[in-house]
Amino acid sequence: MPRRTKILATLGPATDKPGVLESILEAGANVVRINFSHGNQSEHLSRVKAVRDWAHNNDTFIGVLMDLQGPKIRITGFKNEEKINLNNGDSFTLDADLDANSGTQTVVGIAYKTLPQEVEKGNVLLLDDGKVVLEVVGIDGNKINTIVTQGGALSDKKGINLRGGGLSANALTVKDKKDIITAAKADADYVALSFPVSGDDVRLTKKLLKEAGSKAGVISKIERAESLVDEVINDIIQESAGIMVARGDLGVEIGDPQLPAQQKRLIKLARSNDRVVITATQMLESMINNPIPTRAEVFDVANAVLDGTDVVMLSAETAAGNYPANAVKTMHDVCLEAEKNPIAKTSHHRLHEHFKGIDETIAMSSMYAANHLEVKVVAALTQTGKTTMWMSRMSSDISIFALSDNPQTLRKVTLYRGVYPCGIDTLNSADWVDVNTKVVNILTKNKVVEEGDLVILTKGMHEGKSGGTNMMKIIRVGDTNY
Ligand code: PGA
Ligand code: MN
Repeated sequence: MPRRTKILATLGPATDKPGVLESILEAGANVVRINFSHGNQSEHLSRVKAVRDWAHNNDTFIGVLMDLQGPKIRITGFKNEEKINLNNGDSFTLDADLDANSGTQTVVGIAYKTLPQEVEKGNVLLLDDGKVVLEVVGIDGNKINTIVTQGGALSDKKGINLRGGGLSANALTVKDKKDIITAAKADADYVALSFPVSGDDVRLTKKLLKEAGSKAGVISKIERAESLVDEVINDIIQESAGIMVARGDLGVEIGDPQLPAQQKRLIKLARSNDRVVITATQMLESMINNPIPTRAEVFDVANAVLDGTDVVMLSAETAAGNYPANAVKTMHDVCLEAEKNPIAKTSHHRLHEHFKGIDETIAMSSMYAANHLEVKVVAALTQTGKTTMWMSRMSSDISIFALSDNPQTLRKVTLYRGVYPCGIDTLNSADWVDVNTKVVNILTKNKVVEEGDLVILTKGMHEGKSGGTNMMKIIRVGDTNY
């Protein structure tokens, strides 16, 4: 059985070293993440090209997700790029008027100039992902005066979060808008939107992508406290191709103890809305420096699989770590084992619900039939991949093959749990028997099925042309006529 949960690996300096990109793709990364927070346009484009070349040479499909930096709020820098150490009880000031790179032991500048107007006495500011905690004791013009409540080291450009959220920075910065053009140029399959606070942020991103000529799906990173409100999260999910449980920034804003419950809730919400979901950040953090993970990290990855995530993500583990291929291999092994648990295979999805359309009904019925008959695989002939998205929302251990001649669709499904892309050319087929035969031959050639196996085939049959899925056929491999 192939692994169902997908692995998203972030590219960076570590994967630019000779042979490393190949090693993480060979180890099983299904999708790569290009992080616009680091690097320049030519670096991004050459990384995308290297991935596409490898996929082409290996006759496979690898998705490309390009992650916009978003309005991450940061301090500026210290004199001579020095690192300071703050102690509990120290007074420390964030000053919007201070020149960049002139921070000292008692004050540092901030890149987001309106921060002093948006915080008040009593607020808690978290620096460097919560490693340093400051309590606001007063606002003095453009200065935020604070007392250190959790000391630690602080260096240039570290991020600032407000506990509880609520900062008004727009989700799309000027840089993000430029990077959207780069994403279009790279023909990205997905673009990740950082810090959206509403469905409007997603709608604007989609509009800009469309104007740039991109067909990329938007993955909304859920990393702000205010986006967790029911109406807001539902609107964001509906507008997006999928979401990312961005545990780094979200954990800082809402406090880590709330994260596990939110992860479970967000995964459920995404799945029930027919959207894909990525679980991200620090999944195998210790593998940045060690060849093996901690046991707690193994549990974290496995639990995300049992929660129903489509994708598990690696950040610095692959982008800047010492053991990128090991990290992917570890994830692969842990996912495979976790998927054997009955929780990962059983589903009550939509059992008591009405379906909205013919295509959705075929998708659901195929999975129902496949789960109740000894079916080896479900093969969906699909233009957009939508049928396979519906199918993959139902937990099962039946492989779902997305058969398409559309390379973008084949790359998009690389994020869907249990769905495998498979290129097929049906344009020159004489008739449906010919198409069905082609499908069976491809699956047989790839050793997915053998004589006697049952295959469920779905397709859109509309007087000779393709369209919305409206039929399902059960085929036994080896029969004389398909
Ligand atoms: P980032 O997003 O790595 O781009 O910050 C993920 C997160 O916040 O968890
Ligand atoms: Mn983040």
